Amino acid sequence: MDQTDMHSLFGSKVFNDAVMLDRLPRDVYRALRKTMEKGTHLELDIANVVASAMKDWAVEQGATHFTHWFQPMTGVTAEKHDSFITPDGSGSVIMEFSGRELVRGEPDASSFPSGGLRATFEARGYTAWDPTAYAFIRGHTLYIPTVFCSYGGEALDKKTPLLRSMDAINRQALRVLRLFGNTNASRVITTVGPEQEYFLIDRKLYEKRRDLKCCGRTLFGARPPKGQELADHYFGSIPPRVSAFMAQLDRELWRLGVLAKTEHNEVAPAQHELAPIYTTTNLACDHNQLTMELMKTVAAQHGMACLLHEKPFAGVNGSGKHNNWSISTDTGMNLLEPGGTPYENAQFLLFLCAVIEAVDEYQDLLRVSVASAGNDHRLGANEAPPAIVSMFLGDELTDILHAIESGTLYVGKEQVQMEIGATVLPHFFRDATDRNRTSPFAFTGNKFEFRMLGSAQSIAGPNTVLNTIVADVLGKYADRLEHSVQFQKDLDELIRTVIHDHKRIIFNGNNYSPQWVAEAEQRGLTNLPGTPEALRTLIDPKNIALFTRHGVFTEAEVRSRYAILLENYSKIGHIEALTMIDMVNQEIIPAVVTYQSQLAQLAANKKLAQSEASIALEDGLLKKLSRLSECLVKRTQSLSDCLMEIKPIQDPYQLASAYRERIYPAMTELRCVADNLELICGRDHWPLPSYGDMLFSI
Ligand code: ADP
Ligand code: MG
Repeated sequence: MDQTDMHSLFGSKVFNDAVMLDRLPRDVYRALRKTMEKGTHLELDIANVVASAMKDWAVEQGATHFTHWFQPMTGVTAEKHDSFITPDGSGSVIMEFSGRELVRGEPDASSFPSGGLRATFEARGYTAWDPTAYAFIRGHTLYIPTVFCSYGGEALDKKTPLLRSMDAINRQALRVLRLFGNTNASRVITTVGPEQEYFLIDRKLYEKRRDLKCCGRTLFGARPPKGQELADHYFGSIPPRVSAFMAQLDRELWRLGVLAKTEHNEVAPAQHELAPIYTTTNLACDHNQLTMELMKTVAAQHGMACLLHEKPFAGVNGSGKHNNWSISTDTGMNLLEPGGTPYENAQFLLFLCAVIEAVDEYQDLLRVSVASAGNDHRLGANEAPPAIVSMFLGDELTDILHAIESGTLYVGKEQVQMEIGATVLPHFFRDATDRNRTSPFAFTGNKFEFRMLGSAQSIAGPNTVLNTIVADVLGKYADRLEHSVQFQKDLDELIRTVIHDHKRIIFNGNNYSPQWVAEAEQRGLTNLPGTPEALRTLIDPKNIALFTRHGVFTEAEVRSRYAILLENYSKIGHIEALTMIDMVNQEIIPAVVTYQSQLAQLAANKKLAQSEASIALEDGLLKKLSRLSECLVKRTQSLSDCLMEIKPIQDPYQLASAYRERIYPAMTELRCVADNLELICGRDHWPLPSYGDMLFSI
């Protein structure tokens, strides 16, 4: 593909700024831009013109339908397609699309989770166009990115709070910028580049695994003789089938304006990663949803299945998502860029302090923002950061902060007395800050990399939390400094105090080591290993107060999310347990029984042919098989019993905890027996594709 091809491909399916400029009358374009940038109301007559231009453009590209595209609490996107056709009164039809249809939709939304926000007599929710995200075409449909709310205006989706959090950080960061005399910037946005990990396996094998199809992960499977020990897959050469998949995925993403940039193999066999170039958080979130969806569809077209689950294979590295996050102004200044002048340094230090304080104060919220049944298998499993939130700044920056706090000399390449606003910060190198791969939250030179996210989850939640907690601290700083008469002195004191009070969150060592868990406890850091207990902190009064203070969530919205997430956790546990029971009863036991009967038959035949023939092998195997299969049946029964016992639990938190404390351990025990059976059953007698088959299938 040459430069011109790329030019005509990239964003060709997006109703983006260039298309708008080309197709909208000047005044309409200006009004729309104002709405996009300032969040002002869009008048219906303007919306009508935009809708009509959008429809004409879409129809020219072969679209016949439109959909309001939204991100309900299910974690995946939702859409309901309507066609553009309208009867013209003479038995024929015309293609029409009104401003009203563009701006507002009413999907029958009664079956989306609302956590009690929407009474059934008022089951309808509505979708409203989010003009800050561009409409685009997939297949024959025009997709309109929307938010999804109840009739009372409560958020029923992941996008609404994200947009609100972006407003919050915009408001507070601007106040702080003004303190530094910055009047140029009129808007502050956060930017995100999410690195997405995934697995690819052959589709024929995927189809044979009910656990993968129902739960997204394997519930059984003995370890293969060769796993990731040799680390020969990481950045290794990409197999042709995967290459073809990546090439098509890139093209499809580029058409939709997604800045897919790097593709490479990851640590585990069959594991890969895609990283886009960062963009505004809101768009990054839409784009990441699209990326995940397209990964699945494109994989299917190439005879493969894309697994986005956090832990598809036990004992093999799972998949995460690295959320690279920064704050910048509409004038293009990255507020987490240290800069080269004392003035820039001072501003940088204050923003850095805001992130340090926010992460320390709201460790629990960051933890909740990545809590899911899938991620529980990964966090702390020696491949991903533990469930303890801490922050990596690198030795140089940490030493600088220490020197500032204690008023001592910073001893680096040169010795510097740190005077905020007067001395230039010693240069600390970007790669020096990127060496530690074990930290959950790492400063990487001019941005932070939040590494606890699960691969399957929407990035909306973690970024909503990040934006809000940093907004909160920035607001506090602005309150404190706005009326300062000795700005320099007060700033200096504020920075010292923050470092002193919050340095416990900074940890540059190995986060995977067991010693860290003990040390973190001594430091008083929060450790919430399981989803249910993590979720409970969502309704902590301090957290509800934070969200309501910034208009990101009402108390009712927080509580509804708490209910939805708990229920979701329990539902996943339930589905996984039932899938296991079914697979044992319908696939594993019948296979093991058949194998045993063949062995017994063989032994009998041998004896028949030659009465003194040795049947020690058959006998030994049969004994083992029958002992293990009895155990398998017993453990399956106990898992069933456990499910029956916890069924009456009404309280959603108690129920979720029961899944974590009782069902999951029972599942692990059951799995252990089945995996032992797999190891002694002949390959042809085992009903499921093995780990070795799946991990090295492409
Ligand atoms: P690597 O981690 O491979 O060294 P980079 O650090 O350059 O690569 O970038 C990793 C991800 O971080 C990419 O998605 C990139 O677009 C994103 N990124 C870079 N700068 C920013 C920023 N200012 N804000 C948000 N994300 C960023
Ligand atoms: Mg990175």
